[in-house]
Amino acid sequence: MAADAKYQGAYPHLVTKIIASYVSHHNVAPEQIPELISAVHQIIDGLGKPTAAPPGTPTPAVPVRRSVQRDAVVCLECGWKGKMLRRHLSTRHGLGGEQYLKRWNLPSDHPLTAPIYSEQRSSLAKELGLGRGGRAIPDQAPTPSEPRRRGRPRGSTRQARDPSGTA
Ligand SMILES: [Zn+2]
Repeated sequence: MAADAKYQGAYPHLVTKIIASYVSHHNVAPEQIPELISAVHQIIDGLGKPTAAPPGTPTPAVPVRRSVQRDAVVCLECGWKGKMLRRHLSTRHGLGGEQYLKRWNLPSDHPLTAPIYSEQRSSLAKELGLGRGGRAIPDQAPTPSEPRRRGRPRGSTRQARDPSGTA
């Protein structure tokens, strides 16, 4: 009876129930059970208590997983959305790319440029032959919308009227 005193704050019957249910659905080695019990106790103990955010980790403007979209990246600092974050970070927040990643616990391969944009850039770079010393810039001259007619109109009466003539 008095043995229950040390479970103050937790719920032994609840813990037992959870453990029993867990064990019946999972393959748990006997030596893992004590660990499981203490884990469940901790979780139950923590219920209803405010989850303290780890110090130094501010709340992002958008969830991290939504900060990278196919055609845009979102700044976790302020929610700014654009193709490239690096410039925004340095001008707006005074942060370097690395600082930003570290600040938000992001992996080093977390994109700071919209995926579609970096794809375009790399394929464009390939097209331009960059990195190979080539200077194959594609002809960007706009093509005239109305191709000039070269053929001689043969005796057509629908020809443009000659202003000097008396057709
Ligand atoms: Zn920002």
